Amino acid sequence: MNRRYRKLRIEKRNRLLELAYIDPITGLGNYNAYLARAKEKLEKDGKKTIIILDIDKFKTFNKKYGHVKGNELLKRVGEEIKHAIRKTDIVCRLTNDVFGIFLVGEVDVEKITERLNNKISRIHIGEVWYNLRISMGVYICDKDEKDVQSIIDKAIMAHDSVKGKYHVPYGVFTEEFEQKMIRESEIENMMEEAIKNKEFEVYYQPQMNTQTGKMEGAEALVRWKKDGNMISPSEFIPIFEKNYFIIKLEKFVYEKVCENLQEMKTEFKEIPKISINISKESLLEKDFLEKYMKMTEQYSISPNDIEIEITERTTVDNNTDMKEILEKIKEKGFSIAIDDFGTGYSSLNMLEMLPIDMIKIDKSFIDRIGEKNETINLLEIIFLISKKLNLKTVAEGVEKSEQVSYLKKENCDFIQGYFYAKPLDFDAFKKYIKENK
Ligand code: C2E
Ligand code: CA
Ligand code: CA
Repeated sequence: MNRRYRKLRIEKRNRLLELAYIDPITGLGNYNAYLARAKEKLEKDGKKTIIILDIDKFKTFNKKYGHVKGNELLKRVGEEIKHAIRKTDIVCRLTNDVFGIFLVGEVDVEKITERLNNKISRIHIGEVWYNLRISMGVYICDKDEKDVQSIIDKAIMAHDSVKGKYHVPYGVFTEEFEQKMIRESEIENMMEEAIKNKEFEVYYQPQMNTQTGKMEGAEALVRWKKDGNMISPSEFIPIFEKNYFIIKLEKFVYEKVCENLQEMKTEFKEIPKISINISKESLLEKDFLEKYMKMTEQYSISPNDIEIEITERTTVDNNTDMKEILEKIKEKGFSIAIDDFGTGYSSLNMLEMLPIDMIKIDKSFIDRIGEKNETINLLEIIFLISKKLNLKTVAEGVEKSEQVSYLKKENCDFIQGYFYAKPLDFDAFKKYIKENK
């Protein structure tokens, strides 16, 4: 092989290596480089600290000053990070505006994050100074860990915990996080079996007419009994929403409700309307309504017997699609309630635009009845708006008689809460219907 050819080949290989490992914008290593170098460092003993550094609102900066300036900024941030750390440490650009830092040996987290924050929050490109905001996630690794991706994930989790909280520039991954992660994967490992083994059950919590005190509706609430223990829906529902298992579970709950409604129809002259919680994930499924109508018909149930509860979160994104989806649901005869009203971001506009029948006022408002503060006024405003827009109201989490009196006075339509009844299993619920005719 002649020398010239060999030289060319080496150059080509180096260029390819460069492409694979170098970020052309900052000249730092890229994600692959971070993985490779961090892996090398993890092989050695001693303490390591991982920091994920994110520039807040970088997109806005790009829009305002253009991509060329945006790229220059990334380069400058990379330089500042490099100055703030030691030669033996690593900094790479992982994605758009996210940098990965890897520090070896003893590190004062407070100091290094403050130094990074000071250097980057006011930064210059040439002569011009810019104010930026950064957020960081920190993971301190003092155990024998070899999996780079898993340590990055932990730092990302710590970062997620402070995202949007402008007064805290960094978060540190803690044992609590770790426990939460372990629990999350435990739940994920159990969920499929749980459906097969019939570990999920549907409970019903009565909703009373405020004026007459008679039960007119009930909310279906899922329960998970595992080896004699209850796992709380507040724990597993958010996980199922993330991994989409919620779609399967809600189908199960809906079918169970249809089955129970069918049974109640043979036993009672009047049956309460049942509210069912439906997540955004289910609603956005292409054949959602088709599947649910099929179950409804299979058990000879009328959509009039069912109310769909959606949260404010569901209505917020992509309002236009949601409007269409909800209108189709309404057309079939279901009614629609907005759950946890007042805790999210629903706007008056949304209340008017979407085909909603009922507002469920969140427990946090009810808890403050009796206190002398603004909340009461807020509640009055909610009642006023709902009257104006012709929406029914149900108060959730009502526990005290003074709350009941207040809600009566304000003409709130329904009350749901421990004051009347806790969620009951189906047998207890049927008994409750008989005793409260
Ligand atoms: P949610 O829809 O806001 O349901 C009301 C929660 O408040 C229920 O908790 C209920 O047991 C509780 N509650 C009712 N009255 C009182 C009271 O007077 N005092 C107190 N302290 N609590 C009261 P639960 O059953 O633990 O459900 C928690 C959340 O899990 C629900 O909140 C709902 O968001 C979700 N969830 C439950 N079942 C389902 C389901 O089948 N599908 C979906 N997507 N989510 C569900
Ligand atoms: Ca609900
Ligand atoms: Ca609620």
